[in-house]
Amino acid sequence: MKPSALTYHRPESIAAVCDVLARLGHEAKVLAGGQSLIPMLSMRLAAPANLIDINMLPEQDGISIDRHGVTFRALVRHSALLADDDAHQAQPLLRRALQLVAHPTIRNRGTTVGSIVHSDPAAEMPAVLGLLGGTVRAQSQRGIREIAATDFFLGPLECGLAEDEIAVAVTVPRRAPNEGSAIDEIARRHGDYAVAGVAAQVRIVDGVLSTATACYVSAGELGTPMDFTEVLRGVDPADADDSRWNAAGDLARDTIETETDIHASSSYRSQLVAALTARVLHEAARDALRNAAARTQRPDGDAEPRADSGAEPREDSDTEPREDSDTEPRPDSGAVSQSADDSASASNATGRSGTTGGTR
Ligand SMILES: Cc1cc2nc3c(=O)[nH]c(=O)nc-3n(C[C@H](O)[C@H](O)[C@H](O)COP(=O)(O)OP(=O)(O)OC[C@H]3O[C@@H](n4cnc5c(N)ncnc54)[C@H](O)[C@@H]3O)c2cc1C
Repeated sequence: MKPSALTYHRPESIAAVCDVLARLGHEAKVLAGGQSLIPMLSMRLAAPANLIDINMLPEQDGISIDRHGVTFRALVRHSALLADDDAHQAQPLLRRALQLVAHPTIRNRGTTVGSIVHSDPAAEMPAVLGLLGGTVRAQSQRGIREIAATDFFLGPLECGLAEDEIAVAVTVPRRAPNEGSAIDEIARRHGDYAVAGVAAQVRIVDGVLSTATACYVSAGELGTPMDFTEVLRGVDPADADDSRWNAAGDLARDTIETETDIHASSSYRSQLVAALTARVLHEAARDALRNAAARTQRPDGDAEPRADSGAEPREDSDTEPREDSDTEPRPDSGAVSQSADDSASASNATGRSGTTGGTR
């Protein structure tokens, strides 16, 4: 099927984008990577009268890292963020999650900000933003405002941007020295959306777990973390046999709502939620131990976080050492190589292999 007739706009400044949005608001859609919007237009699941292509705004492309965290602008493709070593060192969960997003062709075009704005419960990056407590920067003729993740996700395919606003950037906090994170999911084939997935973050204090949260993909409330601190407080991260990991999984299964669709039944999804929660929380705790150990082993004077790759750093930026603890394989270029990327994906428990996926 073909999209219904529409007027195509290609503004060359962010001010011009805001002008068009102020005039056309609910009759217009921003086009970023088009990896969700174009299929929706083609299937006529969306039929805006106007399309505002933002790809002529090079200043909207760039990743910056400062003491607050990692900021990526509206035109940063998934593959660019995935390949950015400084972003990875500052917040490793970004790369870990992006490795699970679709496959290289999609990631080379789709933007991470677009994925967050699209607010698909089956997408990984809304879960990451919700878990880490990031913010979305929105711009309109009325000015700029920061929207906390807690206020951003309103429901499936529904976000907190007003009709006249464009999301110009997203910021996720740096990983703290005592934090660890992990993400895992089950998908039918590589590149497919997850049947269910879990991202988790824990903190350790004096060698034991002090806080634990998890956020869900294709299950539960979009971008809303669940707190496991009560179940897991005091657990030794290295103790895989502690029954409290499974207790956390049981709690998730009994709390997180799951749905039946053509891919899986609700009860199967709930079983995945339980198993993945136990596994991912434990992996996040082990990651926190590795992170803490790497920090104590590292000599003083480690390199500073890189200021910029196109975006402007904040005024009070670049004063903290960066974190170097991760041991994952790293893709080595902006155009992510299939082999580097897929070897990382293949090593996760999903065993995903193949390339077909679908938009929702
Ligand atoms: C075959 C296939 C498989 C996929 N598998 C996965 C997967 O496993 N996991 C996953 O997370 N994603 C998956 N995706 C989606 C992909 O990650 C997209 O990149 C993402 O959903 C949207 O990013 P985009 O830049 O393409 O946005 P677009 O498609 O251009 O836009 C999506 C929506 O967001 C709005 N929008 C985009 N940018 C902005 C902005 N800056 N300000 C305001 N509104 C904006 C648009 O108006 C539209 O409503 C898949 C896509 C395909 C085609």
